[in-house]
Amino acid sequence: MIRVDLHLHTTYSSDASIPPKTIVNQLHAHPFIKAVAITDHNTVRGYYRVQELASAEQDMLIIPGIEVSAIGGDLIVLGVAELPSKPWTIENVIDFARERDGLVVVAHPYRAYGLGDLAKNYGFDAIEVLNGISAPHVNKMAENLAKAMCLPGVAGSDAHRADELWTVYTEVQASSDTDEILKAVKKGLVRVAYARKSIHF
Ligand SMILES: [Zn+2]
Repeated sequence: MIRVDLHLHTTYSSDASIPPKTIVNQLHAHPFIKAVAITDHNTVRGYYRVQELASAEQDMLIIPGIEVSAIGGDLIVLGVAELPSKPWTIENVIDFARERDGLVVVAHPYRAYGLGDLAKNYGFDAIEVLNGISAPHVNKMAENLAKAMCLPGVAGSDAHRADELWTVYTEVQASSDTDEILKAVKKGLVRVAYARKSIHF
């Protein structure tokens, strides 16, 4: 089993202030979250930088990802380290991810830039049911959407600032390996939870 934060931003997102080094340092120090998907807005440059810094570390896994500002709402692509070509329609992003064995997760469906009920018209792999910077009732609506669509629910902090890191996590029945984690998420071998910070950074 591995605990992973499946949604966060680095300084490579224009609205975020978390340096890649901070992510690596905090992951190293964290008592139980040992994997993270780097999901900057419309770029994978932050992922490559974090991965580079983490390559010397033994105890952490960095999963490639992107939060794509798709037409209709934000989508998280996991397991792919390149950008889809435009136009970023929902269909195009799903096809792009499928061709590369990646997953497409509906980010915060009922918050600003969320897909909302529109999500029901597409074949996604999972729904983000616990977003660290969304209000509880909005997360609850996302949970109901996942149930209605019979899709797995995942969690991500959506941290844009260092003090927002690791507030929630996804527990995945997999070892520390990107392919294994993605397959387990798709199968629904996941559980989401809030994480109280048990150490001070
Ligand atoms: Zn985000």
